[in-house]
Amino acid sequence: MDATVNKQQLSFGTQLIHAKTGIDGHFGAVGVPIYQVSTFNQQSPDEEVRFDYSRSGNPTREALETTIAQLEGGCAGYAFASGMAAISSVLCLLSSGDQIIVCRDIYGGTYRVLTQLFSRFGIEACFVDTTNLDEIRAAITPATRALFLESPSNPFLNVSDIAGAASIAKEHGIITIVDNTFMTPYLQQPLLLGADIVVHSATKYISGHSDVVGGLVATSSEELAGQIGFIQNAFGAILGPQDAWLLLRGLKTLKVRMDQHQKTAAQIAEWLQTQPHIKNVYYPGLKNHAGHQLAAEQASGFGGIVSFEVESAEVAEHFFKEVKLPAIAVSLGAVESILTYPIRMSHASIPEEKRKELGITDSLIRLSVGLEEPEDLLADLGQALQSYEAAYAEKAYR
Ligand SMILES: *Cc1c(COP(=O)(O)O)cnc(C)c1O
Repeated sequence: MDATVNKQQLSFGTQLIHAKTGIDGHFGAVGVPIYQVSTFNQQSPDEEVRFDYSRSGNPTREALETTIAQLEGGCAGYAFASGMAAISSVLCLLSSGDQIIVCRDIYGGTYRVLTQLFSRFGIEACFVDTTNLDEIRAAITPATRALFLESPSNPFLNVSDIAGAASIAKEHGIITIVDNTFMTPYLQQPLLLGADIVVHSATKYISGHSDVVGGLVATSSEELAGQIGFIQNAFGAILGPQDAWLLLRGLKTLKVRMDQHQKTAAQIAEWLQTQPHIKNVYYPGLKNHAGHQLAAEQASGFGGIVSFEVESAEVAEHFFKEVKLPAIAVSLGAVESILTYPIRMSHASIPEEKRKELGITDSLIRLSVGLEEPEDLLADLGQALQSYEAAYAEKAYR
């Protein structure tokens, strides 16, 4: 490897393979070794060592942290035990009496931790429709310290103007945090759009194989990096070395996976629109999606998640009963397609009234498009959608 190659000039796909972590100096291993240790030997009690205890720092975890910082265009990265550990650690930047403005269709776990845990420590969350910048402006009070966005959001793939929101926040001295789980740094780089902190559930696309639970953070400034580093060590919700290694491995194929995920997702979204028993299809890549134009401007792709509404709860019920290939599971972003019934699964922790307000009904289905061959997926989804008709015809006949 030529050490003089300027990483910034390499294209994203190449950076994924040749991230700064490089080749191990001891034996020339081309991958990062797993330092499965809790502590490190010092020559003497006062010796200054690079690593002294794995909560404070571990070489395998640090390789991953350096990599996510580089991929997000940030100055530092941090790895946590889960996406929620990453988000909760970032929320520890807030103090009692602070207010945070949050997109109203935020991930269910983030909603729960804000309304049931951080609320107990005097941190107030104000949920607004962040696709409308005026709503963000109107929600700002002297107590506002942070703005938390997810774009595209879940399950309707609503798109918020990250640069626009971050610039309003900046005017008021508010930090902008973006959950970039759905896009990954390959498709969207919020720090380069003006956000201060980006968070990930690395459990999803970054792992890519439904085999790790992890979270990542990258920051734009040394000052925030220092604060998050302090919280990571003090609060201690760190990622273990084995899981850090699995995420490093997952990252190497991120580009090829995302390319295929979104190619098939676009095909399925188009196809769903032509199917009977489908009321609505939500995919930012569709020209009729409200956030299409904005998504095309601020991201380099539309991702691999498609949500759709079927005619009725009965169609949904038959669909879930007959569909064969996708896993019916919470989570997303894996090699296998994953189907979720938001009302009973991913959004079950959101109160019913709030769910209604968000439009999450019993006919809404979310599909995380996997890497199966598109024609096999289309055939399977097609037969599952038609199963309702067959069952209905049989009933009528009887
Ligand atoms: C899954 C998810 C999280 C939470 O991550 P975990 O790894 O499950 O803790 C946060 N945000 C989004 C958008 C997610 O999809």
